[in-house]
Amino acid sequence: MLHSKPKDDNYLHKGLRRDLVNLLREKGITDERVLEAINSIPRHFFLDPAFERIAYEDRAFPITANQTISQPYTVAYQSQLLEIKKFDKVLEIGTGSAYQACVLAELGALVFSIERQKALYDYVGGFFFMKNYPHIKRFYGDGFQGLPTYGPFDKVIVTAAAPFIPPKLIEQLKPGGIAVIPVGDDNGQKMMRITKDAAGNVKEEILGDFSFVPMLEGKNK
Ligand code: SAH
Repeated sequence: MLHSKPKDDNYLHKGLRRDLVNLLREKGITDERVLEAINSIPRHFFLDPAFERIAYEDRAFPITANQTISQPYTVAYQSQLLEIKKFDKVLEIGTGSAYQACVLAELGALVFSIERQKALYDYVGGFFFMKNYPHIKRFYGDGFQGLPTYGPFDKVIVTAAAPFIPPKLIEQLKPGGIAVIPVGDDNGQKMMRITKDAAGNVKEEILGDFSFVPMLEGKNK
């Protein structure tokens, strides 16, 4: 379960965070703004207290409703691919713990994030740390639909394993926009970067291998 009460961010956490950032740099993350965002967000706030000491290892962790907070390397990798500029409108599918949303907000994005699990959506609503990020708007809904009334978006990020590239998300991408979507099944996914040029032509790049929880159709109460 996520914490709703303020927590301590002490020198030990800060030191562990610096080590994590150095590890991400060694693993090939080069965007210093992304690394700085990760350095500034207390990841242990997002996890069950049982995981507090290992919150800064580079691995995914269980959160509520059988979901996970993505591995820091994955968060950094997707964030880097998005090339976030200040005031970019970013659509995120899969709010989960909201850690990825906070990293995007640190980078200056206006984040619109959808979660299909009501329990998780409600939980994040009571998470004290979110008050630092008024530019994150959260929605309870089905990410396959996107947010047509709020779009189009400069960037789209999916943080669950999509069985295919959801067409509505590409429709809601602005010309010049970038979408980053892990596409595949339970056996693994390929990260895909989809770019839309000024004329609206779409280009797909297939990047590395990842493992996300599945992107599921519809809302879950
Ligand atoms: N970005 C999250 C990672 C969460 S894991 C974080 O930083 O913690 C993936 C999340 O996607 C889960 O919470 C899951 O419930 C959600 N999800 C799966 N399918 C979805 C859909 N169709 N629409 C919205 N959210 C979805």
